[in-house]
Amino acid sequence: MKETWFYESLFPSVRLGLKVRKVLVSNKSQYQKISILDTYQFGKVLVLDGVVQTTERDEFIYHEILTHLPMLSHPQPDRVLIIGGGDGGILREVLKYPVKEVFLVEIDKKVIELSKTYLSAICRNSFNDRRANIIIDDGVNFVKERKRKFDVVIVDSSDPIGPAKVLFSSKFYTDVFNILSHDYGIFVQQTGSSFLQEEELPYVYRKLKMIFPFVTTFSTAVPTYIGGLFSFVFASRGIDPLKIGLSQIEKRYRKSGLKTRYYNPKIHHSSFTLPTYIKEAVEAKRNG
Ligand code: SAM
Repeated sequence: MKETWFYESLFPSVRLGLKVRKVLVSNKSQYQKISILDTYQFGKVLVLDGVVQTTERDEFIYHEILTHLPMLSHPQPDRVLIIGGGDGGILREVLKYPVKEVFLVEIDKKVIELSKTYLSAICRNSFNDRRANIIIDDGVNFVKERKRKFDVVIVDSSDPIGPAKVLFSSKFYTDVFNILSHDYGIFVQQTGSSFLQEEELPYVYRKLKMIFPFVTTFSTAVPTYIGGLFSFVFASRGIDPLKIGLSQIEKRYRKSGLKTRYYNPKIHHSSFTLPTYIKEAVEAKRNG
């Protein structure tokens, strides 16, 4: 029988290939091509414009570190804003906290609808939680309108191509700065593969350094985000995450009663430790 393979089209000379059991969705929305594949190795996989967004098998790594690192770095995160995140994985993790309200601002309602139908193992019932406000809009519009303040802003967007490009601009970062609570407001965002998208992290880091007093980076490895270490930025109006001791994080983690498969306080701490080539790339740009 002829095998079906999906090959990701993000990088011109490097390809991730996944053996496909069944193509569940192949659709086009106003913004992008949406596919959901049932694969042999990673279960169901969400693909936007030919790029893997999340898979049932390894999503916990990305969703846990991008949620729990900022949430446990903040003394009391009551109000949270998620931009993007239409698969519901970050929302699921944020709702594990006694948050007062969460806003999820996703540009493409089709991603949410299809995720509810095919990716319930990822989003579970999070979209129906009474604390969750689901807004269909471009994230740049929502932050521009500045109707309220947030303790934590998590950008879980696709890469800086297509609809997500605007979410990597100084204008957007300035608007985010202005909707963060004055004291401890925290902003985090994915900045791609440190090896195959090596410009992205220094570029974003440099822009944030011009706006936020505290900016640092953290990383993890996600099997289907090829290219080695996958990087993130952390920016804050009042918190230097490197000054929060391991015992403080352990205390908050215990108090939260969180059950996690990737995240733990030691991983939290070590995630800020960068290999020399990334450290130099980030610092080099700063002097540029
Ligand atoms: N974890 C994935 C990654 O790191 O590539 C991202 C997953 S999540 C599905 C990405 C979401 O961001 C998509 O549903 C996409 O529609 C949404 N998105 C892209 N640009 C956006 C924008 N300007 N405002 C709000 N949502 C946006």
